[in-house]
Amino acid sequence: MLKISTGFLLGICIGLIFGPSAEVLKPLGDIFLKLLKMSVVPLILLTIIVSINNSNPKELGRIGGKIFPYYIITTALAVFMGIGIAKLISPGVGLSMPKNSSIEVPEAPSLIDVLLQIIPSNIFESFANGNILSIVFLSIIVGFAINFMRHSNEKQTKEWGNLLLKFMEAGSEVVFRILNGILQYAPIGVLGITATTIGTQGLDTLSALAKYVGASYLGVGIQMVVVFPIILLLFKVPVIKFFVNTREAIVTAFVTSSSLATLPVTIKSALKAGISDRVANFTLPVGATVNMNGSAIHFGVGVVFAADIIGYDLSVGAIIAIILTGTLAAIGTAGVPGAGLIGMSIVFTQAGLPIEIVGLTAGVNVITDMVFTTCNVTGDIVGAAVVDKSEEKHTLSLVEDKDIAQTSI
Ligand code: ASP
Repeated sequence: MLKISTGFLLGICIGLIFGPSAEVLKPLGDIFLKLLKMSVVPLILLTIIVSINNSNPKELGRIGGKIFPYYIITTALAVFMGIGIAKLISPGVGLSMPKNSSIEVPEAPSLIDVLLQIIPSNIFESFANGNILSIVFLSIIVGFAINFMRHSNEKQTKEWGNLLLKFMEAGSEVVFRILNGILQYAPIGVLGITATTIGTQGLDTLSALAKYVGASYLGVGIQMVVVFPIILLLFKVPVIKFFVNTREAIVTAFVTSSSLATLPVTIKSALKAGISDRVANFTLPVGATVNMNGSAIHFGVGVVFAADIIGYDLSVGAIIAIILTGTLAAIGTAGVPGAGLIGMSIVFTQAGLPIEIVGLTAGVNVITDMVFTTCNVTGDIVGAAVVDKSEEKHTLSLVEDKDIAQTSI
């Protein structure tokens, strides 16, 4: 990630020194963007199928019935907040795209069209056209089908289910390795994109990016200081104690920029905050993969940034569609550094916004990813605390059972 910052800084220098001629470096950026686009579909398909299979159907049913609505609602609200805050700051106003990049101002699809498009009439067409929402839909139903197969009473079906899951797990390992490779190339890609943009746009780009970072920090700040405490208070969880006990996870998330790398600390902090291990052990690993409130804010801010740049007025229908895609993309975002850039490519592809702008924000992603990840991890523990509170009766009866068992020994 440090290397990406170096690429970014070098790109700025080259752009400033060589001006419009820095555009010869554009292909370096294009390679990076194409590589990102290439990995989006297999990444979504495999991570969703595998994460649905991380739990058994019974547990998925009970605790999942509480935690998933929580994830979906808070994520959708976070996308909305990202859009709102960025609208106030207008980070991209005054910037335009490099001259020879093709910009097609998209027509906003109606919400009903977006919803109907989710169900593919031909799955191969969805893959070929990169229709992300239908690919997510397909991944979810395939994930559940495999999960039910694995828990079937029929030996043969069970075997097939386990075999399929193994195959998917191996496939997702392949995708992650490829992604790691792509991220190795990222510094050069970022250099190409930044040099071209600064060379053709000059310093306006930097001030726009500073506003973009500001909007991202403000969004995360509000989520951490206002939204999370309100949720905790609603469920009668003591707020100060919560943040004091979870501070280790919060700091680790900030420095690693990875929800997954933070997971062991997240679980430890949650237990320290008094959340039962039954709830923590189930919800936090799932949360680290699917619950991304910070990434959701990222997408909201990013969409407005791009819309400002291409002069595209976001209609109410377009905003609703973006909240929907943003929520699904956040769910599909892996808990690793820089994964939000891929999620953002998904949202941009669906909304018809130019993916080059994702590349532009990649240069400052190392600064924004830290707070997005902090917000992602805090959101996971807030979710666990809330579900734990609602499960208190259940947990208390378990504790009582244990006490009775111990006293009788
Ligand atoms: N880095 C984030 C995380 O691990 C994901 C993202 O890039 O948005 O939670």
